[in-house]
Amino acid sequence: MSGGVNGGWLAVAGLGPGDAALVTPAVSSALAAATDVVGYIPYVARIAPREGLTLHPSDNRVELDRARHALEMAAAGKHVVVVSSGDPGVFAMAAAIFEALEQTPQFQQLDIRILPGITAMLAAAARAGAPLGHDFCAINLSDNLKPWDLVERRLRLAAQADFAMAFYNPRSSSRPHQFARVLEILREECGPDRLILFARAISTPQEEINSTTLGEATPDMADMRTVVLVGNAATRRVGRYIYTPRSAK
Ligand code: SAH
Repeated sequence: MSGGVNGGWLAVAGLGPGDAALVTPAVSSALAAATDVVGYIPYVARIAPREGLTLHPSDNRVELDRARHALEMAAAGKHVVVVSSGDPGVFAMAAAIFEALEQTPQFQQLDIRILPGITAMLAAAARAGAPLGHDFCAINLSDNLKPWDLVERRLRLAAQADFAMAFYNPRSSSRPHQFARVLEILREECGPDRLILFARAISTPQEEINSTTLGEATPDMADMRTVVLVGNAATRRVGRYIYTPRSAK
């Protein structure tokens, strides 16, 4: 990566779903050239310590502070990599960096690159077959950054539009009832026979995949390490795989 102001730069990198083989070479070379790595504690824990590299793990709820800190270090001449799991543009740090940049115009000339990664829904879909083979959408079920009403509205409209759907952050201990409500809405809109896939900790040693129907699905099948995929009306099983045909009639 070329140097910006003071030779400093900032890369916002996706580490993929977990397996080191799913980290792109572009991300690996940014990490090899970094002086500082910033991110949520479990993601920074995936970076091997080495001489000349300072790790800055932080709690998840301080995204804007973390983004500002990364911009300040890059402006001071450091080679900074902000790490996210999966892809940094999918419910992760890339947008937080630009939000911080809007508030700090003095940093807008910095050399900032977004390095894509394999997002959870694509890693999960690949394990299952091709459940996202036709039109699909991704919805973050956390109401940390948006009202719950909006989550319900988007869910209902996506189901009515017959998108296959991927749900991130499906469930947490701070909001145990919401995922039950999600399943209820999906059953109303899609009926009990629609396929649903719970993909947990994909590409890690804790990986678990469980496919069933909306009628049989229960809220405890998801946790915060699960991405949930719901098929469209044509999604079906073929052998031990699940796929969605590329055409709609
Ligand atoms: N930027 C990340 C998503 C961050 S939000 C990405 O692109 O994948 C965190 C959510 O991602 C989790 O609650 C879960 O729904 C999903 N997730 C992340 N890694 C996962 C994995 N290895 N397996 C299944 N789901 C995962």
